[in-house]
Amino acid sequence: MSDALILETIGDYAHTARLAQLAGYDGIEIMGSEGYLLNQFICPRVNQRQDRWGGPVENRMRFPVEIVKAVREAVGPNFIICYRLSLIDLVPGGNTWDEIVTIAKALEAAGVTILNTGIGWHEARVPTIATQVPRAAFRSVTARIGKEVGIPVMASNRINTPEVCEDIVASGDADLISMARPLLADPDFVNKTAAGIPEAINTCIGCNQGCLDLAFSNKRVTCLVNPRAGYETELVYPKVRKAKKIAVIGGGMAGLTAATVAAGRGHDVTLFEAAADIGGQFNMAANVPGKEEFQETIRFYRHELVRTGVKVQLNARVSHDTLANFDEVVIATGVKPRIPRFPGIDHPKVLSYPQVLRGEVEVGHSVAVIGSGGIGVDTCAYLLEEHNQSVETWASHWGIDFTVSEPGGLTAPERRHAQRDITLLQRKPGQKKMGAGPGKTTGWAHKALLGQYGVKMLAECEYLKVDDLGLHVRIGENETRILDVDHVILCAGQESVTDLIPRDKDGKITDKRYHVIGGAKFAGELDARRAIREGAELAASL
Ligand code: NAP
Ligand code: SF4
Repeated sequence: MSDALILETIGDYAHTARLAQLAGYDGIEIMGSEGYLLNQFICPRVNQRQDRWGGPVENRMRFPVEIVKAVREAVGPNFIICYRLSLIDLVPGGNTWDEIVTIAKALEAAGVTILNTGIGWHEARVPTIATQVPRAAFRSVTARIGKEVGIPVMASNRINTPEVCEDIVASGDADLISMARPLLADPDFVNKTAAGIPEAINTCIGCNQGCLDLAFSNKRVTCLVNPRAGYETELVYPKVRKAKKIAVIGGGMAGLTAATVAAGRGHDVTLFEAAADIGGQFNMAANVPGKEEFQETIRFYRHELVRTGVKVQLNARVSHDTLANFDEVVIATGVKPRIPRFPGIDHPKVLSYPQVLRGEVEVGHSVAVIGSGGIGVDTCAYLLEEHNQSVETWASHWGIDFTVSEPGGLTAPERRHAQRDITLLQRKPGQKKMGAGPGKTTGWAHKALLGQYGVKMLAECEYLKVDDLGLHVRIGENETRILDVDHVILCAGQESVTDLIPRDKDGKITDKRYHVIGGAKFAGELDARRAIREGAELAASL
């Protein structure tokens, strides 16, 4: 295996390429996809010019082709020019397959060394990289372009494990694989693959919550599953001189991170988990169709627990006596569902979201979901979607035509057949954002999915009671309605589990050995990114 250092560029191409060459890079990647400038010239969607730079494809592709020629002239014959070509624009007014082939051949003739695969403009209303996109969903378009050109082609998008990479290359669908987020999740992805320990890889789960959601909010990019990403010089795990005896209570994301980081530093760590298995809330998340990837994080931690030598005690309810002999105690006991107060909350129609997401109950045909946060949205998806959808089924629902016979590769989406009649409710006014959940870059896709299944949304609700007739609700000031449903599912947020924290009457922790992290510390805006970061930061400081 040999390495090549490639710089991605979106402007001033020939100059940047020459500077990159002088700086010791082996090549550059020209970003010609995702709706950036070169993609805009290529597509009739944006390029409305009537001169020699617009009109037929031969004119529209002139700009990128001239750029590639200029770059080649600037860097000579041996420098790698990788061009990321949008193979399927996924927007109205995108190119057709015949046009893409014409462009690819012209780029090759102009001096491109490798053709990378771009999928979808940022404006596309089809998910292209989110968790719900099946792994390597777009490999077939890379395989098709590979048959049209004589240069190597590179596959991209939702390729996150060595096994998938291997399968794509071995099958001949692509010569190379392009990955970005998986290397944020685990910078040692390649080393662990080469060492034959893929089970040790911290897999990118496609959540976007630590990377793109933050990038598009002008915040520092990191990674939900790897808190050191972007914090490599600040969050360090030095080996300890004197090992402490540390108890971690709770085997969810916060506790698992605290335990494995502390043990990795050399501490003597015991993890106590009340349930029969580790994983906490991630076990429920992994049960949601389209979130199967979350299982990979649990698999990673299973490996980390063994690698770092954490002693794990499952089905273990600990008491203060058990903790008396430890030097430090980490409370990561997480959350329990918030139970709202209204008459009929004990009615058999009322279910909690853990009962549903753990598959403990048979849910009826008509359902009201109370609470439209991330878990309310997930619960709807759980009740409506199929697990592990095939690429073909998934693509047909989003209207993706991999043959790109129509401009942009868009076709009429296949209608979804809802197995259940669901109403999602919240107390806040404002229906517009309902059903999106918390993800900045993925919320629109969640909302679209619920829309495709005909989920009804009701905002500004007051829950009056549940009885045999269903859920009685006041909407706005004047309207009252009875939702005649089989079940009412409570997704009304969480409360911290704090039983084990020794506090005085003012709420101050009375034993300085105790540290509280994750949902046990603050349930309000609990998310896995904060839980994992808190676990890592605490363990780095002990
Ligand atoms: P959440 O986002 O806080 O939502 C709770 C919902 O319950 C809100 O819609 C709230 O809206 C409602 N609610 C709150 N108190 C209520 C009460 N007393 N009675 C009735 N309704 C009440 O919490 P969550 O959905 O449980 O999610 C928990 C955390 O997990 C979140 O921080 C979220 O980021 C994370 N999560 C993320 C994802 C993801 O895909 N990124 C998925 C799942 C969970 P009203 O007050 O308007 O009724
Ligand atoms: Fe992948 Fe999520 Fe990390 Fe982004 S934040 S790199 S999507 S695991």
